[in-house]
Amino acid sequence: MRRSCTDDPYADIVSVVAPPSFGFEHTFADGLDGLYAEWAPAPVPHPELAVFNESLASELGLDIDHLQSTAGVRALAGDAAPPDARPLAQAYSGHQFGGYSPRLGDGRAVLLGELVDNAGVRRDLHLKGSGRTPFARGGDGKAVLGPMLREYLFGEAMHALGIPTTRALAVVTTGESVTRETALPGAVLARVASSHLRVGTFQYAAATGDAELMDRLVRYAAERHVPAATGETLAEQAAALFAHVVDVQAALIADWMAVGFIHGVMNTDNVTISGETIDYGPCAFLDAYDAATVFSSIDHGGRYAFGNQPAIGAWNLARLAETLVPVVDDDPDRAVQTLTAALEQYPLRFGGSWLTHMRTKLGLVPGSDDDDREVAEGFLAILERREIDFTNAFRDLATSLRTGAPPSFMPVDDDGATSWYHGWLERVDRDAAQRMDAVNPVHIPRNHLVEEALAAATDGDLAPITTLVEVLGRPFERGDVDGRFAQPAPDSFGPYRTFCGT
Ligand code: AMP
Ligand code: MG
Repeated sequence: MRRSCTDDPYADIVSVVAPPSFGFEHTFADGLDGLYAEWAPAPVPHPELAVFNESLASELGLDIDHLQSTAGVRALAGDAAPPDARPLAQAYSGHQFGGYSPRLGDGRAVLLGELVDNAGVRRDLHLKGSGRTPFARGGDGKAVLGPMLREYLFGEAMHALGIPTTRALAVVTTGESVTRETALPGAVLARVASSHLRVGTFQYAAATGDAELMDRLVRYAAERHVPAATGETLAEQAAALFAHVVDVQAALIADWMAVGFIHGVMNTDNVTISGETIDYGPCAFLDAYDAATVFSSIDHGGRYAFGNQPAIGAWNLARLAETLVPVVDDDPDRAVQTLTAALEQYPLRFGGSWLTHMRTKLGLVPGSDDDDREVAEGFLAILERREIDFTNAFRDLATSLRTGAPPSFMPVDDDGATSWYHGWLERVDRDAAQRMDAVNPVHIPRNHLVEEALAAATDGDLAPITTLVEVLGRPFERGDVDGRFAQPAPDSFGPYRTFCGT
């Protein structure tokens, strides 16, 4: 559906009745037979656009008007797949909370195809909530409006924060009622990703025992995500691919830690090869700083607590490494050596990236790594001890430089905090406040605001979610935005619990 029908007098009529072509390509379907089941999305009784991402549609070179037409909305709901789509459900395995599930896969999703965006990047367009597939196990294949809007909202917020992420092109309500604890409005999310290859995709391929399939997957993933390795031997491509995933995942998790993001379900099927954040189910942002924070109702052991995320990242990468042993070298010992050396880069890459974030967040004129790490950790210790809002603390610190008065959470009767503050003042220069404000968000998806907007949407009022998406699209600007968007939850909101996207 590249802009094509501008001088066609029947264009409007055609756009109402004919499903539009999207200009799809199908490298995954063509190259990775064995890792999917061809599968059509389910018909939808009454598709209606709930939210639509115009800027993403433009980035993908899609026709915005046509996409919002009746035919376009039907296509986005999976009700009438575009003629050039080749819908398929992808196969993958995954370690869920540490336990291995050999056969997960897209239980309620299909890949329609790939689009090459305006910057020349190949991106998947995938529908979630589009009906049961051969991987559905006991599930109904459906999705409901609240969680799909949540995914839309968090993807946009993360994107605006400069954090690699999948994004949503649209959420379409289906007109169906879907049974969860209560009957809820059904919805389909159209998701865009640099690819949907996951650590779990490699685990699935490895578990088939089909070496040829594993080789194809490695070559495909390397060509798509590590073009610099093109032309190298398969073993070299596998090693380069692993080093790349180590790198992008370390950087990604450092990004999360810098904004207080808790993914909540870092299972290996939710870890991308591209380094994009995927699957916004039980995720949430920290309010008061506490490394032990867990929001997810099913994370009883705190496996995916805020402070555990870097270590879990390494654990997940080790699972990827295991699958690559036979491809990296004919000699398993040498393969393990190569992969171990690459994995050893993870703490260095993560630590370096985290420190860079913290230096900018705190406005430090860079000193030695050890000194700067101590300043950063000292600050976090104060926040934790005093239960201070993580997001606002950095902004308040910058404000204190402008006003000359210490932030309210640095009381004079706390020896540790006072000495930290005076030490910090010696480490910043005149422009620090400006640098800090450029990287420390004012607006993050506050849990109480997200819940309020999703509840309204479920009751048929889409205005609050639309406003929230707009505000979160400008995370660093206070502008003329109502101050309540920058406030932590009131005490009356109580302890927060999240649930896996359903
Ligand atoms: P997630 O927690 O979204 O990462 O999903 C984990 C696995 O459960 C994936 O294989 C999903 O496709 C599958 N799944 C989740 N919800 C449903 C559902 N309602 N119907 C079918 N499969 C589902
Ligand atoms: Mg998932």
